[in-house]
Amino acid sequence: MYTFNSYSYYLKSIYKQPAYRVSVDAGFTCPHRSRNQNNTGCLYCAGGGSRAPYLGKESDIRLQIRGAIDFLKKRYHAGVFLLYLQAFSGTNAEPPTLKRIYDFALSCAPFKELIISTRPDCIDREKTKLLKTYAENGLKVWVELGLQSASDDTLWRMNRRHTVKDFVTAFNLLKKNGIYVTIHLIFGLPGEGEEEIIHTARFVADLKPDGLKIHNLHILKSSPLYSEYLCGEIVTPCALHHRDFVVKALEYLPVETVIMRLTCDSPGDDLASPLSFFSKSRFYEEVKKEMILQKTWQGKKYNPKAIM
Ligand code: SF4
Repeated sequence: MYTFNSYSYYLKSIYKQPAYRVSVDAGFTCPHRSRNQNNTGCLYCAGGGSRAPYLGKESDIRLQIRGAIDFLKKRYHAGVFLLYLQAFSGTNAEPPTLKRIYDFALSCAPFKELIISTRPDCIDREKTKLLKTYAENGLKVWVELGLQSASDDTLWRMNRRHTVKDFVTAFNLLKKNGIYVTIHLIFGLPGEGEEEIIHTARFVADLKPDGLKIHNLHILKSSPLYSEYLCGEIVTPCALHHRDFVVKALEYLPVETVIMRLTCDSPGDDLASPLSFFSKSRFYEEVKKEMILQKTWQGKKYNPKAIM
């Protein structure tokens, strides 16, 4: 029975052979952190501290790509590679610098897609124009844009320092220029339960994103949220709670939206909570099992006119 539009199904249907992301850290930083004198970013983020100033260092980028491709070929017999600039904000530089980095990374292997993770306030007309040139040259260009919640109160509380409106402006600019957009959400943020999550899901559904990534809230010891967690102020959803949130949210999303992720990867040593969670593959199975049990599927409650 169809349950949801998974990323693995999407990749198989497009490329007909094993396709994998090649994750490259090109040395980008986070504009949100650098704007704040005390270097505080989003409260759940552990990526503090300064980074080595190696933005776009070519030898390093080439090495990362070669290493990753060798590994993916040996381990998974990968035949198709997608360039993924995931670390921090992959549009956090002036357009000429961005062009130099993207061009170089793309020249290292026959990539089929360029995927960039960033913040809504790090997208503007000039950067979008640059991304459009790659799309016009036949590359599939994706931007992964963090929203996390459709509540301005939650965004403020989490120190995101952008509004829902800022997000929509960046989203629309990218879409108008032929860029595929994936939205990032976090379920279980402080003050958010089923009602708020469904509100966010319906809001996102109305935007009809090309992709969606959902993370469960986790608390890292090196994040600012850890002290609130120690005071007992915050509880993270357990695997079954998160599963129920995910099943509810998927019902509201259009079937065309590719579901790229349902849980986050938590670095073991730094993780304070949840300490016990399903593996990624087990979580996917649990979601599917629950959807079959409930006789539901992605899009069952999708109503394009729900939010106007
Ligand atoms: S979550 Fe992203 S935007 Fe927020 S502080 Fe961390 S790197 Fe910056």
